[in-house]
Amino acid sequence: MRVLLTGGAGYIGSHTALVLLEHGHEVLVLDDFSNSSIEAIRRVEQLASASIAVVRADLADLEAARTALEGERFDAVIHLAGLKAVGESTEQPTRYYRTNLVSTLNLLEMMRERAVTSLVFSSSATVYGTPQTRTLAEDHPVGQGITNPYGFTKAMNEQIIRDAQAAWPEFGAVLLRYFNPVGAHPSGRIGEDPSGIPNNLMPFISQVAVGRREKLMVFGSDYPTVDGTGVRDYIHVMDLAEGHVAALEHIAAGVAAYNLGTGRGSSVLEVVRAFEGATGIAVPYEIVAARAGDLAEAVADPRLANNELGWQASRSLDEACRDSWAWQSANPSGFDA
Ligand code: UDP
Repeated sequence: MRVLLTGGAGYIGSHTALVLLEHGHEVLVLDDFSNSSIEAIRRVEQLASASIAVVRADLADLEAARTALEGERFDAVIHLAGLKAVGESTEQPTRYYRTNLVSTLNLLEMMRERAVTSLVFSSSATVYGTPQTRTLAEDHPVGQGITNPYGFTKAMNEQIIRDAQAAWPEFGAVLLRYFNPVGAHPSGRIGEDPSGIPNNLMPFISQVAVGRREKLMVFGSDYPTVDGTGVRDYIHVMDLAEGHVAALEHIAAGVAAYNLGTGRGSSVLEVVRAFEGATGIAVPYEIVAARAGDLAEAVADPRLANNELGWQASRSLDEACRDSWAWQSANPSGFDA
């Protein structure tokens, strides 16, 4: 298949592009490079010994995206393009809603015009809002207790895709609800390259380890968890990338939602210890106040994806720490060194 990968130069996009190429698919990346680097694409091409077609355009600009894609053929779409910083979304809500919702609307209209019927959408476990059960399964209610505009854009995009499908019976979409992606390709050639101060735990830890930051701030220590720090389901980005390809290869008419997670929770302090154990580098930290809007715990029930997609996360947190470090230590300033 020739797959249009929106946001294909980003963290998840670059790893997904690699796995697509390894599975014999062709890749067409559409990215505006506002938060990503063409260098990531070049490195994926080297790792896969294959080439990637790239169009530079902002998907939120329909005419620009149409023009950029003129003459390009694709059989399916993996839609990852979007803004993703939770904190920033509370400061710039209209920008988040405009970018993330209009991009999806434009993409759906272009797919309809071209009669491209297969879509994999990058959603998030954040659509579950406040957990009502210990682990989160796909039938958990969506949309209640979401605490930020970023999370609402994911839930709204899911609804937009469901409504588009209801009006177009041949259309098939898979909504992938990611838990916490971490790690990097084991080569250390590609990885997560956040701009500015990292919001997420693993890139922050790696930047402390490489000496770019003094210490980790651990947000909160009195959650009702194993050691009082927040618990998440950390999934290796290569497992996540493989989940996209499994989803793509299983699309049928209709809409299906799947969790991409491991089913195992780890606390912030467990991640710190895993990182120290995997790298031999001490990660100084300080416990500070909880971050507004954070949950105590969010862990996937991944059985539906295991059973229906024939996919399972197989890499450990230790491997993710080792691979994050392979990337960070070889690329202390990211792609733009
Ligand atoms: N966290 C932390 N310090 C940081 C970043 C994150 O203690 O600098 C904690 C956060 O409170 C949560 C976990 O690490 O319990 C994962 O946070 P992240 O932002 O990576 O993902 P989230 O689950 O919030 O989307």
